[in-house]
Amino acid sequence: MKKSSMMSLSVTALLGLSFVGEAVSAEVNLYSARKENLIKPLLDRFTEQSGIAVNLVTGKADALLQRLEREGDNSPADLLLTTDAGRLHRAKQAGVLQPVQSATLEAATPNHYTDPEGYWHGLSVRARVIVYATDRVDPSALSNYMGLAGDQWEGRICIRSSDNIYNQSLVASRIAHYGQQAVDQWLEGLVENLARRPAGGDRDQVKAVAVGQCDLAVVNTYYLGVMLSGDDEAQREMAEQVSVFWPNQGSTGVHVNVSGIGLTQAANNREEAVQLMEFLVSDEAQRWYAEQNHEYPVKAGIEASELLQSWGEFKADDLSLGRLGELNAEAVKAMDRAGWR
Ligand code: FE
Repeated sequence: MKKSSMMSLSVTALLGLSFVGEAVSAEVNLYSARKENLIKPLLDRFTEQSGIAVNLVTGKADALLQRLEREGDNSPADLLLTTDAGRLHRAKQAGVLQPVQSATLEAATPNHYTDPEGYWHGLSVRARVIVYATDRVDPSALSNYMGLAGDQWEGRICIRSSDNIYNQSLVASRIAHYGQQAVDQWLEGLVENLARRPAGGDRDQVKAVAVGQCDLAVVNTYYLGVMLSGDDEAQREMAEQVSVFWPNQGSTGVHVNVSGIGLTQAANNREEAVQLMEFLVSDEAQRWYAEQNHEYPVKAGIEASELLQSWGEFKADDLSLGRLGELNAEAVKAMDRAGWR
């Protein structure tokens, strides 16, 4: 029933285009869960180079996804950008994305950072590490995420709430590697070791370690980067009290996630959209992610910023990130069972 009205709409759109002909300027519409200041300069650069205007709509990932679902085939969005593979997987499941095959994207992005069917493509890598109070923790006592359940950490760990997708993805990755049973056991110990009821974002966990509320926290490294390089002196001083520990270096590698992008099912500006996707994995854009956002490039051979290099090299988990989405529901249930608030 809806089909005919949608068809007539798209016919109107086509007619509209043919009326203006050459005068139509190229554009692409992007829904972004990434904050405007963390993406806009790159988009401006793209427009400068390509002549394609980018219309940016920013919002929370879940709200953008709901909007895409509601708008259906009439959505003006060509692209969806999120900061977590779990949410991109949700978008794929919801049927709002379509696959893109691009030799440029394939060459730039390792397979495990991309949906196997091409529904979404990783753009930047984010590592979720353990940070510790430099003056109170001997890093030789640390090993891997599972070790956070050990008795020696009782009442000493801070981590944000279980409704946070970064934690859900971390737990999903543990389920992928070790199975449900081992993860249930782990979570029970981890929750027992929490210094306080989970609250705040990753930066708040770093602050809690700095003021002595806890000795360890689990955070994404770019938050440390923001704290250390920003103008806020108090934040910088707090971030300076903690050190980065790379977990699981002898086993699975550190848990990583990606910010990534997918072409919408409804895309009207397909060519322009793919051009923007390809620009985002260009050397220039990849370097920008590292310098400005303190994230790791997805593309090999791009040098990380000096700050990132100061935390050392690490082995990253090469789990196919689509698994994070597939196991998300299991992860959430396991966190609930363990009483992780
Ligand atoms: Fe974040």
